[in-house]
Amino acid sequence: MTSDVYFEDIEQEIIKLLHSSKVSVQICVAWINGKIFTPVLKEIAKKGVNVELIYDNNHSNIRHGVPSSPEYSSYAINTRLSGAFMHNKFCIIDDEIVINGSYNWSAKAKDSFENIVVIKNNFKLIKKFKTEFADLISYCHAFSTHKVAKCKCGSHLFNLGVLGQESGLYDESRVEIWSVCVKNQHVKYVGEYHEQYLRTQLGLQYDLDEYYDSPKDEMQDEFKREREVIASLQQYFDSLSGTKIHAVGSVSPINHNEYMQGWEPDLNYEIYIRWRDMYFRKIIPESIPDDGYSFDEVNINSIISSQVEI
Ligand SMILES: [Zn+2]
Repeated sequence: MTSDVYFEDIEQEIIKLLHSSKVSVQICVAWINGKIFTPVLKEIAKKGVNVELIYDNNHSNIRHGVPSSPEYSSYAINTRLSGAFMHNKFCIIDDEIVINGSYNWSAKAKDSFENIVVIKNNFKLIKKFKTEFADLISYCHAFSTHKVAKCKCGSHLFNLGVLGQESGLYDESRVEIWSVCVKNQHVKYVGEYHEQYLRTQLGLQYDLDEYYDSPKDEMQDEFKREREVIASLQQYFDSLSGTKIHAVGSVSPINHNEYMQGWEPDLNYEIYIRWRDMYFRKIIPESIPDDGYSFDEVNINSIISSQVEI
């Protein structure tokens, strides 16, 4: 594992690294200049490297950017809110090298004080960049189909699939769908489904007994498995009903250890979000805490109470 930082001659360093690619190049940048980078991308694509490019869909890129070409895949990203950017500047080469930093891949960036960090063989980190890259591509594909519904309080609504605990001879579980409001956590019950062996079927439960030749192989396999889980979760919820799911979670205790040690008298729960649609990622939190016992109002506690016998 090595890393280095560059403050000068950044463009040359990037081009040198791009030319060193053998299998794949994944570029995700806010700005990219076609005059500089189109010939490089075409050349590496010609030698058989799979080239994918994600860029922000802004005027500058439309005017000076890399034109789309059958030789590589390109994805122009629009943001949910106008005025927001797809502001990343990273690149993954052969699943072995990550380039990341302040440097825009533009002609103007040379005159500014900028940096890139080049990290090699840090596979934990590379997997995170690969996940962001893959999420951005699916975000790009689904962008125009998204609609955000509004709650009675004016806040945004999202649809949450809740995977219940499995128990019994056939790993029986109950899956619930709720509509949740972002700001005030108003919730509405949408429906439920009864399943058997669901976690196994979705690939959430598996045995880790494989042997890998290298940490890179292990990372690529883990990455592939994670993407398959996301795909099977989406497929499953799509097959249930017409309700588009924006997040999938499960109710889990937050003080299991303290409770087991006898330090705390009760188990407290949250809704742990396992997957969020990227379009809603800025508004759906990573976990939703219990907001207390509900008396007359339907809120997050209603979801938790429905899953856990309190
Ligand atoms: Zn609301």
